[in-house]
Amino acid sequence: MKKAAAKKAATKAAKTAVKKSSVKKAAVKKAVVAPKKATAAVKGAPAAKTVAPPKGESHTALVRRARRINRELAEVYPYAHPELDFENPFQLIVATVLSAQTTDLRVNQTTPALFAKYPTPEDLAAANPEEVEEILRPTGFFRAKTKSVIGLSKGIVEQFGGEVPGRLEDLVKLPGVGRKTAFVVLGNAFGRPGITVDTHFQRLVRRWQWTAETDPDKIEAAVGALFPKSDWTDLSHHVIWHGRRICHARKPACGACPIAPLCPAYGEGETDPEKAKKLLKYEKGGFPGQRLNPPQSYLDAGGRPAPPLGAG
Ligand code: SF4
Repeated sequence: MKKAAAKKAATKAAKTAVKKSSVKKAAVKKAVVAPKKATAAVKGAPAAKTVAPPKGESHTALVRRARRINRELAEVYPYAHPELDFENPFQLIVATVLSAQTTDLRVNQTTPALFAKYPTPEDLAAANPEEVEEILRPTGFFRAKTKSVIGLSKGIVEQFGGEVPGRLEDLVKLPGVGRKTAFVVLGNAFGRPGITVDTHFQRLVRRWQWTAETDPDKIEAAVGALFPKSDWTDLSHHVIWHGRRICHARKPACGACPIAPLCPAYGEGETDPEKAKKLLKYEKGGFPGQRLNPPQSYLDAGGRPAPPLGAG
């Protein structure tokens, strides 16, 4: 008797599960087929349904889905740009090295003093490390970073006559410069397309199931194949901005996410719209951005720069 009752209960549970899964699939299908204005779809409750990418998704379908997400992000962050303050390739490459393990805001608050004292690679290459350490202390790991930026400056002076090179194969020859840093510099100081695979980029493209790769170089190649080269730099900004502002590592703000209807990982974070709103950072949470000297396009679009150094 007990066995029969258990069997009946199990069958019922299985049927319910199947039913739920078909409802979910239908929702998925709907969202994938008609995600029109994802931004509008998530303004306020109710929250979006989880969207799983279709099983056995073809390369073409993946390309379409990925590009749609990028288009939506371009609407959400029309002013996305590098968040490190810089005036020339040398400042950008140094700032990028300094940005490891800290925020761009912290770097932006530190580099004015550094570049005032050491404006050129020659100056920094000949610097007294202890004095540089004092300036870089707020960025954390300041001894290692001092060593890196002095070594990097020496490399620029000795190998490239004091000019930051504008080619990937040259940039990666500089001490402490990997492909990630090289692409930041190429994309933003030389206008050459590059994909920046940082920690945000890696996390988000995994959540969106754009690639299953885990090695940054392989992620770069896989994602690069989904977009035209001309989109690479802006794509990197959109993804990184979304990771910093909404799709956080530990608690993504899914309930306040404009691309929720397109995201296979919807539900990994807070789905309650009100609670999710409180997780938003920088201008999405009503606060300033990270640049002390942002580009005009950011200001024109209503972005708010970080307060000047020393302000409360
Ligand atoms: S916040 Fe949530 S819904 Fe938005 S992209 Fe990240 S995981 Fe997806």
